[in-house]
Amino acid sequence: KTSPIKSVNPFNNEIVATFEVMTDEQVDSKIGLADTAFQSWRKTPKAERAQLLRRVAHLLRVRGPQLEALATLEMGKLLKESRAEVELCAAIFDYYADNGEKFLADQPLDTPLGSAFLSYEPIGVLLSIQPWNFPFYQITRSAASHLMAGNTMLLKHASNVPQCAQLMEDIFLEAGFPLGVYQNLFIPGSKIDRLIADKRIKAVTLTGSEPAGSSVAAAAGKYIKKSTLELGGSDAFVVLDDADVEQAAEAAVRGRIWNAGQVCVSPKRVIVEEGIADAFLEKVKTKFAALKIGDPTDELTDLAPLSSEKAVEDVIKQVQQAVEQGATVLAGGHRIDRPGAFMEPTILADIQPGTAAYEEEIFGPVFMFYRVKNEQEAIALANATDFGLGGSVFSSDDQRAVNVARQIDTGMVYINHVTGIAPELPFGGTKHSGYGREQSPAAIYEFVNTKLIRVT
Ligand code: NDP
Repeated sequence: KTSPIKSVNPFNNEIVATFEVMTDEQVDSKIGLADTAFQSWRKTPKAERAQLLRRVAHLLRVRGPQLEALATLEMGKLLKESRAEVELCAAIFDYYADNGEKFLADQPLDTPLGSAFLSYEPIGVLLSIQPWNFPFYQITRSAASHLMAGNTMLLKHASNVPQCAQLMEDIFLEAGFPLGVYQNLFIPGSKIDRLIADKRIKAVTLTGSEPAGSSVAAAAGKYIKKSTLELGGSDAFVVLDDADVEQAAEAAVRGRIWNAGQVCVSPKRVIVEEGIADAFLEKVKTKFAALKIGDPTDELTDLAPLSSEKAVEDVIKQVQQAVEQGATVLAGGHRIDRPGAFMEPTILADIQPGTAAYEEEIFGPVFMFYRVKNEQEAIALANATDFGLGGSVFSSDDQRAVNVARQIDTGMVYINHVTGIAPELPFGGTKHSGYGREQSPAAIYEFVNTKLIRVT
């Protein structure tokens, strides 16, 4: 018998709930229900679909305190961050409710061959596989656009946030979504290939690690199904010598401790032009030393525990390996001696090309600090990674910063700001950070049949 899915509070490592893994028969019947629901959901007027999305947004706001508490309980993030996450989710549902019909309207094409237009048609049941770091937002950003487009969805959430996963399904049902349009699956990652092989499942979207992405995309390729992937990142945070050092240091620190460092677009590699490197570093050290670390439910806390015991152990191992391979610890570097998955905010420097720290993503409050001679060196270093998710450039000259941004090979670059998230702005990467876009108009076209209809 498969062991149950456990919900563990990383603040004190107590098990707070357990859920039985679904049997293959239960999962099959859910796929059947999703497929049947698709036949009527695809014909449901778009205005009606939009109305249901709006109702989800409303419920997220009304039930906000319950959702916030649950995200913090299951994966340890600061309660104030959970609050911001729930509001962001509501805004994303509202965005597709407000704009979905417009995005999905027939698009006429210019042709000398009579008249022609594009019709955006849903494709069927989608499988969405999501990670724990933003337990509600990760669901939302795949569900809002694709349900609006008329697809139905099966959600396989990360095993450490089962209560959040269950609550989201409850909210869709309470909002009035027909049975089967959105369903939660309690299954391990090892069961995913069987689902991708199922003819009733038409496509798959995953946010998570590179190995999970590669495995899911390989299975999707085998059965000729489309996939989108949002994988890891090791975003460059480039500080040019004409930047406002205080503004840059504050943004870097806030960005790196956000969600206890467990954000795919957090500023992981800080790359500073040498003229201001020392001033920048001093400010970061001072800000790190002033952080309040502790109870995530305390509004004054700055840095929360990591999401699990394993998460903190993995980050510590990466830091130790970096040191063994020649890196210097300029701040932190250790686990904090207290119950819970706490890690000191850390700065690593002298990281050499070819070492693990140079190549890998660190999913915790750790900066990799690099000093460079000039702009060209900064760009080369920013691109010296297999990842290509987001990035930032800080400068008092917007034109100069935009010029640097154009040369960074990622899906998103923010000027004088950490890589952010907004309903109307696309989110996604290049290279090993994956492909496809979420949010913005772009997301809604990922899983539709862009059908040409030509009238002679
Ligand atoms: P994982 O890839 O292990 O987990 C993500 C999801 O994929 C979970 O639901 C997991 O299920 C599932 N999964 C894991 N292995 C497989 C598999 N072989 N086949 C199918 N599904 C699988 O990621 P982590 O939990 O380690 O999350 C952190 C990683 O995700 C980081 O590298 C981070 O950068 C990346 N990430 C990227 C984001 C982005 O937007 N680009 C956002 C957030 C995180 P289960 O829990 O049951 O194992």
